[in-house]
Amino acid sequence: MASLLSVKDLHVSYGAIKAVRGISFDINEGEIVTLIGANGAGKSTTLNTVAGLIKPDSGTIELEGSSIAGLPAHKVMQRGLALCPEGRRVFTQMSVAENLEMGGYTRTDAENRETLEKVYAHFPRLKERRSQVAGTLSGGEQQMLAMGRALMSKPRLLMLDEPSMGLAPILVQEIFDIVKQLGEAGTTILLVEQNANMALKIADRAYVLEIGQVKKTGTGAELLVDDDVRKAYLGG
Ligand code: ATP
Repeated sequence: MASLLSVKDLHVSYGAIKAVRGISFDINEGEIVTLIGANGAGKSTTLNTVAGLIKPDSGTIELEGSSIAGLPAHKVMQRGLALCPEGRRVFTQMSVAENLEMGGYTRTDAENRETLEKVYAHFPRLKERRSQVAGTLSGGEQQMLAMGRALMSKPRLLMLDEPSMGLAPILVQEIFDIVKQLGEAGTTILLVEQNANMALKIADRAYVLEIGQVKKTGTGAELLVDDDVRKAYLGG
């Protein structure tokens, strides 16, 4: 099967700091793939580079065999990749419904009406709170909104950067349940997470990053019982 997204030998730096040092991975249609690793391993840099927010030094990034490396973020989005960024970045002064509309700005009104109903079906809490100003939502609700906003562009690939960050354990569980449901409904997902335990439980496949390189790869189930992964990332 040809990959939906294929990244090969990606190098990214911030000035003299080499954050990503030859990372390769791929994602097939319908998969949930996770990049796990410690703080500073290069997970967010990889995701932001795929999303067009940072330009790579070298390497290839291909969507169904066609290069997207170095394209600006809005072009990458038009090709069908949506990023749900670290820290959510919802428009705090706007309502829930307005935030969702922003996510669908490249689509027609008719398409957005249909997609909005699907988003509300995955996130009933957002429907209940559609008129509420986003800045007054809880952290978990803001995460749902950021995910819903990304889904409004009907992406071929949804990229999630640390959706569990800063959330209470019960909300972390709820967010991961939703990510799993989105995957089951057919959305292809690239998930960056420090919460390796939760990420591996829902991922079809995973890549373990260390200091800007892929240290290990396997299915989520394999890595959950891998001795090295358990010691380094799962608390023994
Ligand atoms: P985190 O979970 O903390 O986001 P991460 O695995 O996503 O970690 P990155 O944020 O990609 O890691 O960081 C990789 C390396 O690049 C780190 O050494 C980090 O300090 C460095 N780095 C990240 N952003 C910048 C920046 N804007 N300027 C300079 N260095 C940066």
